Amino acid sequence: MASSVAEICPTGLCESSDLILSFVNTRNADTGQPGPSGNRAGLAEWLARAGRTERDLVVTNADTVAADELRSTFVTIFRAHAGCADSDTSVSEAEAYLHRIAERYPLIAKISTDGCTLVPAQTGVPGAFGSLLAAAADLAARGGWSRLKVCKHPTCHTGFFDKTRNSSGLYCSTACGSQMSMRAYRSRLKNG
Ligand SMILES: [Zn+2]
Repeated sequence: MASSVAEICPTGLCESSDLILSFVNTRNADTGQPGPSGNRAGLAEWLARAGRTERDLVVTNADTVAADELRSTFVTIFRAHAGCADSDTSVSEAEAYLHRIAERYPLIAKISTDGCTLVPAQTGVPGAFGSLLAAAADLAARGGWSRLKVCKHPTCHTGFFDKTRNSSGLYCSTACGSQMSMRAYRSRLKNG
């Protein structure tokens, strides 16, 4: 299904893509490396942003491990969306992982006269991971899932929503894109 960006996210931003990208772009609060990686503060920060503000919310080390796994799975899928999948095996492993965790973080269909939305069946951290799956389902239903990509710049790796008309964007920003075309230009000069 080819939907235009205006149809998917009229303002260029939507809650679902924002939720997933804020998760994929989580940084370890101590090292600045991508992902929470054993850092509960980084995950707690994202949970607050995801609206998980239950007072008794406890973030365990197991949660950060689960978050890292889920995050790297999304990264594999989004790299594939940008046309630079590591291998077919890693993509099918990522898909199999997402199928498995869909059972761990179930969703409920909330139906009203206006339509139907999927909401997590659980609260707390599992509920937050469930909300990522619900956001993926929402984007996929509106034709926006394949627009979630990871920047192709070799040292950037930032997740972004591709707003180009024909869904051909490869870089998170014009800065990353122009750096890469400058590199390609220099290497052409060197080799030419
Ligand atoms: Zn970038």
